[in-house]
Amino acid sequence: MDPTTRDALLARVRFYRDLGLTEFYRRPVDPALLAQSAAEPVDAQTLGAPEPALSLSKGLVSETWGSNSSQPALSPKLESSGTPSFPRSSAERVGNQDSQGAPGLAFETRESNNPPPVFSLHPESPQEDAPIPPRKPIQAAPQIGDEVVPAARAAALQLIRDEIGDCTRCALHSGRNKLVFGDGDAAARLLFVGEGPGADEDAQGLPFVGKAGQLLNNMINAMGLKRGQVYIANVVKCRPPANRTPEPNEANTCSPFLFRQIDVVRPEVIVALGATAATYLLGMRQPLAGLRGRVHSFRGTKLIITYHPAYLLRDPRQKKEAWADLQIAMRELGLKPPSKA
Ligand code: SF4
Repeated sequence: MDPTTRDALLARVRFYRDLGLTEFYRRPVDPALLAQSAAEPVDAQTLGAPEPALSLSKGLVSETWGSNSSQPALSPKLESSGTPSFPRSSAERVGNQDSQGAPGLAFETRESNNPPPVFSLHPESPQEDAPIPPRKPIQAAPQIGDEVVPAARAAALQLIRDEIGDCTRCALHSGRNKLVFGDGDAAARLLFVGEGPGADEDAQGLPFVGKAGQLLNNMINAMGLKRGQVYIANVVKCRPPANRTPEPNEANTCSPFLFRQIDVVRPEVIVALGATAATYLLGMRQPLAGLRGRVHSFRGTKLIITYHPAYLLRDPRQKKEAWADLQIAMRELGLKPPSKA
């Protein structure tokens, strides 16, 4: 497979993962259908499908996940539910940094000041509502640490940073330029968790400083806050190669540091940005769409799950739903959006 096609296919998988469709290609196939398809020879003319597309999908599945599933790589439900067609740029990334031209960074708040919906805005099929078994084990979070008084929290975070040091605990260290520990108010009421550093973050050593970071800043401002009033960290602290999703062993190795940061900051509300953050905070892998729109708990702290800003850059139509999620966070924090002069 040529590198351009491979990048495009990997980007497609990331796109579906942002929607919470992380495992759709691994769901069991009805044995009766398998038997039927085995009995019926495939007629390319009848299918009307261009051969390269068919073989590329199969190649991606087997190459990426080692699966022999014959489940189609594309979900017809996505097309019918109004989800935009897949962006063509192979430069799109899921990390904090998004290298594609942003369709617009403004985070609109005018459309809805109503109380946020209690239910997910994506009606889900029973199949997507069902729990998905994890591909690999996800470690349970360690026991919650002792509370640190607010005045000592910055120093406590520095102790964690010192302990991480010039970390080589997982394979991600080899491609790292700068380790991205976290940023913001050590005693923040609101804490955002992303997936991992992108190229800009890796260069600067700070989370969410690329285009996705600009959008996150706009989201924070729309909530009536400034970036310096919140705390921001990621599941992994080193940039995965080509901004791929962190492997479970990498996330499981690094996330205990995140949990300790959360224990120190003791926010009132955590907002998980995207499927990876949700997976490792909840300790289970479920479709993102089914997790949005309600309040979860992470070791006693209210946890709200929404889309990653990089995904919102690719599909700005989902900003309204992300805003609904942020309004839940605002309600829990007793915040009101800034008045529009
Ligand atoms: S990602 Fe985390 S565990 Fe892995 S090398 Fe970086 S700091 Fe260490």
